[in-house]
Amino acid sequence: MKLVTLIGALVLSVAVVAAPQSRNDEDIEDLLPLAQSCDPTICTPPNCRCSSTTLDESIPHEQTPQLVMMTFDDAVTALNYEYIAEAFAGRRNPDNCPVAATFFVSHEYTDYSKVHSLWAQGHEIALHSITHTPSTEYWKSASVETMIAEFGDQRDMLAHFAAIDRDDIVGVRVPHLQLSGNNSFEAIRRFGGLYDCSWPTQNFVAPGMWPFTLDYTSTMDCPLGLCPTASIPGVWVMPMLDWIDTEGYMCAMVDTCPHLPADDVDETFEWMKENFLRIYNSNRAPFGVFLHSAWFLTRQSNYPAYKKFVDYMNSLDDVYLVSVSKAVEYTRNPRAVTGTSAVPPEIPLPEEEEVVPPQPQPQPQPQPQPQPQPDSAQESEQEVDDENSIEHEVEEEHDHEHDHDHEEHDHDHEEHEHSHEQEAEHEIPNIEPRRRFRRQSRPNQAFDQCQLTHENTCVPKLCQLTKVSTGEERWMTSCAPCPAVYPWLGNPLGLREVPQPEPEDK
Ligand SMILES: [Zn+2]
Repeated sequence: MKLVTLIGALVLSVAVVAAPQSRNDEDIEDLLPLAQSCDPTICTPPNCRCSSTTLDESIPHEQTPQLVMMTFDDAVTALNYEYIAEAFAGRRNPDNCPVAATFFVSHEYTDYSKVHSLWAQGHEIALHSITHTPSTEYWKSASVETMIAEFGDQRDMLAHFAAIDRDDIVGVRVPHLQLSGNNSFEAIRRFGGLYDCSWPTQNFVAPGMWPFTLDYTSTMDCPLGLCPTASIPGVWVMPMLDWIDTEGYMCAMVDTCPHLPADDVDETFEWMKENFLRIYNSNRAPFGVFLHSAWFLTRQSNYPAYKKFVDYMNSLDDVYLVSVSKAVEYTRNPRAVTGTSAVPPEIPLPEEEEVVPPQPQPQPQPQPQPQPQPDSAQESEQEVDDENSIEHEVEEEHDHEHDHDHEEHDHDHEEHEHSHEQEAEHEIPNIEPRRRFRRQSRPNQAFDQCQLTHENTCVPKLCQLTKVSTGEERWMTSCAPCPAVYPWLGNPLGLREVPQPEPEDK
């Protein structure tokens, strides 16, 4: 029997190579190798990472930036766009890069011109399926092929109708957080995505689980199922660290917490802050504020409390509001970040009191490959000093996109010991004092570069279309010319003639 199975598997794997869109999904899944236990000396970043609550032994807690991921699920519409744009407009992180949120977009009712605007502002656009089918059973039992049709094809759809770079669309959140075990992740691997952010954890909240890859088995709990068992190399999991509501219930999405404080801005804000501080005061794993924007309308206090919460986090000089893909990128290349500077972990940070005489350092440290020439290499001393220089550099943000902080770190930290004492005290309870480093002559980089922003080039077209599967009318705002029919599963570009799948035994 075993031999027959083996031969069957061999025949099948030949068929898989020959016809990747084969319908034998269950069989294909059986062919995936079972994941083995993870050895952190073998599985190392940037391309592999074991599940762990430790980022990097060499980076102390107070030099770990707290990354915060503000995400929104479902259709992007003209209405919710206004709320979101207002909440984030003009905000910058301590490294002077614009803050970014992540939008897990579902197709139906989405206004693609608004998706384009969000992308152009530097927010991340990610995948949340074409059909957003309400049945959890559908998602639980979804084959690799179904997942590719729902997410891989949606990537083409978003790139086309929202006129955005396909390579920027790398993340997945499955509707209702209903994973289909290995299939969810194998689909991501096959269509070239980077991460999934649908997997909650209740056991690894504080300290929180850092992102990990699926090369090996993870130690993360699986409260909703179905979680992967196979080795699926290179696919990242961004754990959803559960929030805790006022009665102690755990919730992956903020708006599914059953017990909220009273409908009062301050009380709601305090509850959000409490959830934030739980992670911020432990290991600073990426903290998610996962929501549907409809939550802003369910109670009077929710939206003002949310904005107050964003204000609060944005006021802390070691907190970065970043996209999920940026948080994955940081985990792949972690570095120590003080309130005012960032250096790779292998470069020792100077002691605060230590006087480091400026030395001529004509050569940057060896780079494996040519780097873009930093524009700030000749930056003048006049820019060094005060808050004004920071303001000044806001306008020059793009000049610093390729800065590397390795070299100049030692130089500046002596001169401005007292200039920031006033702002050193944030009103945060239970937080150990942080070592303060003075401002550098340029913005502090938690990452190698800011996320790209783009010119808004979308000329919106309003399209009146028919949804073929139901005969219903759908309006769609598109940056591309209007399609023939409402785009849908199996016909993501809304073509008149849907191409038929090729026969399997051609
Ligand atoms: Zn959804």
